[in-house]
Amino acid sequence: MTLATQNIDIEQDILSVFNAQKNNAQSLANTNAKIRKDKLRKLLDWTIAHEEQIGKALFNDFKKNPAETNLGEILGVVGEIKHLLKHLNSWMKPQSVPTPMNMIGTSAHVRFEPKGVCLIISPWNYPFNLSIKPLAQAIAAGNTVMLKPSELTPNTSALLKKMLSELFEENEVAVFEGDVEVSQTLLNLPFNHIFFTGSPAIGKIVMSAAAKNLTSVTLELGGKSPCIVDETANIKKAAEKIAWGKFINNGQTCIAPDYVLVHKSIAQELISSLKSAITTMYGNEPKLSPDYCRIVNNRHFNRLNGLLKEAVENGATLEIGGQTDDSDNYIAPTILSSLTDSMKIMQEEIFGPILPILSFSTNEEAIGQIKSREKPLAMYINSNKESNIKYFMDNSSAGGTVINDCVIHYGHTEIPFGGVNNSGIGKSGGIWGFIEFSNQRAVMRQKFGTFKMIYPPYTPFVSKL
Ligand code: NAD
Repeated sequence: MTLATQNIDIEQDILSVFNAQKNNAQSLANTNAKIRKDKLRKLLDWTIAHEEQIGKALFNDFKKNPAETNLGEILGVVGEIKHLLKHLNSWMKPQSVPTPMNMIGTSAHVRFEPKGVCLIISPWNYPFNLSIKPLAQAIAAGNTVMLKPSELTPNTSALLKKMLSELFEENEVAVFEGDVEVSQTLLNLPFNHIFFTGSPAIGKIVMSAAAKNLTSVTLELGGKSPCIVDETANIKKAAEKIAWGKFINNGQTCIAPDYVLVHKSIAQELISSLKSAITTMYGNEPKLSPDYCRIVNNRHFNRLNGLLKEAVENGATLEIGGQTDDSDNYIAPTILSSLTDSMKIMQEEIFGPILPILSFSTNEEAIGQIKSREKPLAMYINSNKESNIKYFMDNSSAGGTVINDCVIHYGHTEIPFGGVNNSGIGKSGGIWGFIEFSNQRAVMRQKFGTFKMIYPPYTPFVSKL
């Protein structure tokens, strides 16, 4: 079969599933909470029963330790589905609203209807979690879903395909493995909603494709998430938390601290605490640590190695790490200081195990650094001084913020997760995800008569309203 015929086959397959889902969407829209919860339970049970296979797939994709898979992929999915199961009945109920004076004689409520046929495009860095969590939210809201996982983690994508074709008919949930071409074929279709997780650059492509059909979008993107450590912070604890949040998944986490802004009076102490934290977690030879996974592929290894080399050649100081092995896509946990804004590493999202440390003298200077860049997905504040925390909060904007820790907010089911502008549009997680996948339909009922006094011919009464 030639490539051209293969492509036509994929296109036809995609179109036929899309039409089947469109035909099925209304009957799914009318499903009650019990039916939707049965589907969520199937997802939950499968996940729990296949933990080992999920761990193996992720290990084969980029040597992710099964314990880290449990932490970053499975626990999040299990927690999210349990949360949806607990609350779905109440979320699905129409929300009645008070009647304002000018509407006396009417009643109104907001009804949550599924958007319809949804497309989910997911990335490779937490490929199971970032596919199944939005899928569960879409199912809870009563939608059909076509899912396109990342081509960079083929073992997990194949497992997702197996899982979801075992659990669902394709007129309800279908998986399309493949690369950019498959993604673009999907993006040509008039979906009712697109939920995309990935880079800001591809987010823009997704949004312009969606604009052609006025499809609503949720864009979960990335960027440079700053981490402030002020002079009042507990240095040792801050260092441990930052090192964990940065080097888990080899720095390939959308909300990993991208760079640290530390008060200059404690910069050296923080750097030595970070070095100890790295050694405690991964030993003196992180390459041998089973807990330290790898960069996903050679293209990303070369990109990161390029950023590292350029920084060092231009005067950055290598505080720890810097060892690389391209045959294994390995870069040691690395800390750099003495950076300048002109270095590429300070201009793009790093998304790997390299942590730049910048110092500041005043709070205004720290905020100036953050505001010279796009609004981040996450911003972290390590401080024990309320007035400093308030200043940093009041003078910045970010998708989410954690005070005195990092990354853990992703697991909180009661707060929205998402970015702002360049780091994302829309929110996900728990009720926020349910709402994102729902049309909030305003329903109003006239109970008594008509508002005849506002009809022409107008009386002086109308001008005085
Ligand atoms: P990516 O944007 O390269 O790819 C994401 C998905 O888009 C993949 O499925 C890919 O096949 C598809 N894609 C790639 N090019 C495309 C194109 N031209 N047209 C249509 N589809 C295309 O992102 P990635 O490398 O997989 O993931 C890393 C990025 O994702 C980082 O920027 C990271 O911060 C971000 N991210 C964000 C979150 C979040 O929740 N906000 C979570 C994880 C990752």
